Amino acid sequence: MHIACLDLEGVLIPEVWIGLAEKTGIEALRRTTREEPDYDVLMKYRMKILDEHKLGMKEIQEVVASMDPLPGAVDFVSWLRGYFQVVILSDTYYEFVLPLIAKLGNPTLFCHKLVTDDNGRIVDYVLRQKDPKRASVKAFHSLNFKVVAAGDSYNDTSMLSEAEAGILFHAPENVIAQFPQFPAVHTYEDLKQEFLKARERL
Ligand SMILES: [Mg+2]
Repeated sequence: MHIACLDLEGVLIPEVWIGLAEKTGIEALRRTTREEPDYDVLMKYRMKILDEHKLGMKEIQEVVASMDPLPGAVDFVSWLRGYFQVVILSDTYYEFVLPLIAKLGNPTLFCHKLVTDDNGRIVDYVLRQKDPKRASVKAFHSLNFKVVAAGDSYNDTSMLSEAEAGILFHAPENVIAQFPQFPAVHTYEDLKQEFLKARERL
């Protein structure tokens, strides 16, 4: 049996922090790893902004619950499960993303954890491990699975390299140019074809 590893944000759902910025009107939450490459600095900045606007876990969960998967994502995941065991590998957080995962039919999700205090204020975050996407693919290999992976950004390229086959989906031009070894597609129909082609070669 083969495993399909999918990135989440940008592949199946919109970017959650951008969605939070749009739904709350807090422009400062638009900041991403593109503007602030140090993830720890970025997360501390986000927690400070949430605090300033008195947004705790409950408020964030409500906003995320009002978001939807990208058009076509639900059907795509359901189709993919006919050919692969599907695992989502994401740098998001369980505590607020689960309503969106439910909308995708509850595929398996490996991501990170947020820490809240008794008032629901987000006080810290816990990354499950270093380079978790690559580590997960390596772990599946140790269990004798073969892996096809798809993602949209720099933080997916270690997972794509580690897998038997990697596919870029919805990736920006600079990522496509820098990683010409991966096929790059922009629609779920084309993504399906790439998964089928990769499966043939496994
Ligand atoms: Mg992504």
